[in-house]
Amino acid sequence: MSDKISVLYTEEQVNARVRELGEEISRDYAGKSIHIVAILKGATIFACELVKRITIPVTMDFMSVSSYGDATESSGVVKINKDLDEPLEGKEVLVVEDIVDTGNTLSYLLDNLQKRGSASVKLCALLNKPERRLKDVKVDYTGFVIPDAFVVGFGLDYAQKYRNLPYIGIVEPGADD
Ligand code: 5GP
Repeated sequence: MSDKISVLYTEEQVNARVRELGEEISRDYAGKSIHIVAILKGATIFACELVKRITIPVTMDFMSVSSYGDATESSGVVKINKDLDEPLEGKEVLVVEDIVDTGNTLSYLLDNLQKRGSASVKLCALLNKPERRLKDVKVDYTGFVIPDAFVVGFGLDYAQKYRNLPYIGIVEPGADD
């Protein structure tokens, strides 16, 4: 069964926006260093591309949470599968996520991270689907605001596929079968 994928943002558009976000973050945190908390697995590609565009000192850590399986709907239940390796005390924390959809995952996660004694916790998301929001989440840096569609590429998967696409596409499962 093959899926139809239509391009929403081209590789050039995504790269340009990631570069802008890196510049903006570097300006906002000038004179400080930031601790990136990237959420596995979806945010890895975005986080790696983003840190290359940040010009202030950066450290990175990774956390894995699950609220989605292979389905395209949020369960509303968030579980920490892998916690951070480093403590957050005194750090300027920037959480990097692939997409904010219902807000269930980030609302839980930001609340959890805010209790760990950091200097600040902010959120950078490559994609934001505000139409789908169930929980209020402040997105400090947004790559693109997108409509209510299921997207893949640049780290985002559909049943673990398509993370490697260098662009963002809308997937229609098995549409051409
Ligand atoms: P939320 O908790 O905000 O509903 O969902 C967050 C997680 O759901 C994201 O980190 C991502 O893994 C998954 N997700 C939400 N929307 C999409 C989408 O359009 N495409 C993909 N591939 N994952 C999505």
